[in-house]
Amino acid sequence: MSRFMTDSLKALAPYTPGEQPRERKYIKLNTNESPFPPSPKAIAAANEAAKELELYPALDGGRLRAKIAEVIGVDESSVAVTNGSDEALNFCFKAFCSKSSPAAFADITYGFYSVFAGLNGVSYELIPLKDDFTLDPNDYIGIGKNIFIANPNAPTGLSIGLSDIEKIAKSNPDNIVLIDEAYVDFGGESAVKLLPRCPNLIVTQTFSKSRSLAGARIGFAAASPEIIEDIYRVIYSTNPYNLSRTSIAAGIGALEDEEYTRCNCREIVETREKTARALRALGFRVLDSSTNFLFASSPKVGGKELYERLKAEGILIRHFDAPRISDFVRITVGSQSDMQALVGAIENILELK
Ligand code: PMP
Repeated sequence: MSRFMTDSLKALAPYTPGEQPRERKYIKLNTNESPFPPSPKAIAAANEAAKELELYPALDGGRLRAKIAEVIGVDESSVAVTNGSDEALNFCFKAFCSKSSPAAFADITYGFYSVFAGLNGVSYELIPLKDDFTLDPNDYIGIGKNIFIANPNAPTGLSIGLSDIEKIAKSNPDNIVLIDEAYVDFGGESAVKLLPRCPNLIVTQTFSKSRSLAGARIGFAAASPEIIEDIYRVIYSTNPYNLSRTSIAAGIGALEDEEYTRCNCREIVETREKTARALRALGFRVLDSSTNFLFASSPKVGGKELYERLKAEGILIRHFDAPRISDFVRITVGSQSDMQALVGAIENILELK
């Protein structure tokens, strides 16, 4: 660290993203990317847009904003388009939370929440999940804090119902309640339909998972027009051109091919369930997943060791060296052949035990 770093950022521990190795080709099951390429419509649209890269992109996400609004069934004024949903999350911490207006989120959830809180000088409370890793909605009723819930949650894969979200939002009317739906297309139910009834609700989604566009960095927030205006205040104070021309075009192309997305999600869910059965047959505890990943632990091999042994075999998964979950690994659901290779490699590792 240089001696020029500000005091407020010296103590910040940045988020640790999953490895993106360059040195060797792995079966990559560590960052919840899609095993499928983007829709051909997304690729064609991005190629076409590349011909005009000498020009700045549209503001406000341009036609992508309108297209997202159409697909999720809200007015365009209720959507802010962001550079990945991480940007939406960061800007919500910046816009709506502070030292005196703290945040609250689960002890086991998306690791970026505490980083964004630190980056933006926001104090926060960690609310422990129950022993079985489920979230107790009662812990969030009337707490008077800005609430961030990943639903389905990461890395557990578990989800809560919309009636609980509505109760949480209504009992904290003077705070925002943000539902991070990065994985909603794999089995969750979107809280977008609660927006007309819950003026303090914000829903974020991403194109990185179900729409195979992690490399394009597209996300969005849906909320009341007033909240969206606040988010755009932050966007316009940071980087008004927050999405490239090619990303905007790819996003529109993807939304014009919803059947492709649905079909891929169906296949991922099938592969997920098949892999969960295979791991359970090998003695693993596998949490019920509504996502494109599995969270699992084995009584025979620790999480860190399994991660290391699989890496040596050319398969990358994710291990979090964190309290309560260090026995677990998070495994992205890849293609059927990726998962066959994974289960085969795990069988070999367990046999040698
Ligand atoms: N929320 C959760 C729960 C995630 O796991 C991720 C992916 N790491 C994100 C948000 C951010 O995804 P992106 O910025 O690619 O939209």
